[in-house]
Amino acid sequence: MASPAPISFEFFPPKTDEQRATLEAALPKLKALAPEYVSCTFGAGGSTLSYTPETIRHLREEHGLDAAPHLSCMGGTRAEIRELLDRYTRMGCRRIVALRGDLPSGMASYGDFRYASDLVAFIRGECGDRFHIEVACYPEVHPQSDDAHADLRHFRTKVEAGANGAITQYFYNPDAYFRFVDAARRAGIGVPIVPGIMPIANFSQLKRFSDLCGAEIPRWLGKRLHAYGDDVESIREFAADVVADLCDRLVAGGAPGLHFYTLNRARATLAVIERMRR
Ligand code: FAD
Repeated sequence: MASPAPISFEFFPPKTDEQRATLEAALPKLKALAPEYVSCTFGAGGSTLSYTPETIRHLREEHGLDAAPHLSCMGGTRAEIRELLDRYTRMGCRRIVALRGDLPSGMASYGDFRYASDLVAFIRGECGDRFHIEVACYPEVHPQSDDAHADLRHFRTKVEAGANGAITQYFYNPDAYFRFVDAARRAGIGVPIVPGIMPIANFSQLKRFSDLCGAEIPRWLGKRLHAYGDDVESIREFAADVVADLCDRLVAGGAPGLHFYTLNRARATLAVIERMRR
């Protein structure tokens, strides 16, 4: 089953044997869809300083995937980031997802970088054009920003610092994406903006994530999901239809690809891709 658009998959670095087994089980099914690349998240403040590089090595060497590390700078030092960049270079990585990250509770200091744009500029300064750099962007506005115009200007700063592309926070309203892309183009941002897609497997988990990251669950969608209660199978079916329809509309409207937040599982992502129009 091929995807109707270029796709990428995002994983988080497994930390326990159980989590490693979950990812291992998902990988063959997701690999079969021939992703353009996969990526692996990075905990702010160095909490996954070793887990992310180890997962990237595993995905590249043992699964033959073009695996791109996320690199978040919050709480990090220039020396730490430089060391990671060297390590990723030695592994053959040529794509990085550069982020600010969030300050973990209990951590008081920003470290050597304040914003993702500072990290992008640092990577370009250290490594020139060695890496293709993706950054994050927010069609529904970053949760710490109460000014959509300023948020867009800050996105442009990251691109001017050297980002080659952007991946969005997830959303369920395609108009949020299309209007955001239009605004970005008017603001002179020319890089590809790939929608981030969150398949839905578990409503309470989705609500928790969405509260944290500022993604809106439309009222009609929340009400319908809530009404299924513990009927997990019905939630899966309904949610896969909804998210596949979102993906169809995004691709039809010109989205250059789709980046799936897999949460290290294949089922919900596969259900969406299977239902997409060919
Ligand atoms: P920035 O671009 O620095 O923006 C953060 C905030 O600061 C925004 O409100 C922005 O408007 C504002 N801002 C930016 N520049 C300025 C300025 N010069 N002056 C004033 N305000 C400014 N988090 C992780 O910890 N690890 C991950 O692996 C990870 N992967 C992600 C992948 C994707 C695709 C996405 C969408 C998010 C990911 N995140 C990850 C979450 C991300 O780190 C958070 O959303 C974080 O709060 C912001 O990161 P950023 O890179 O967008 O920050």
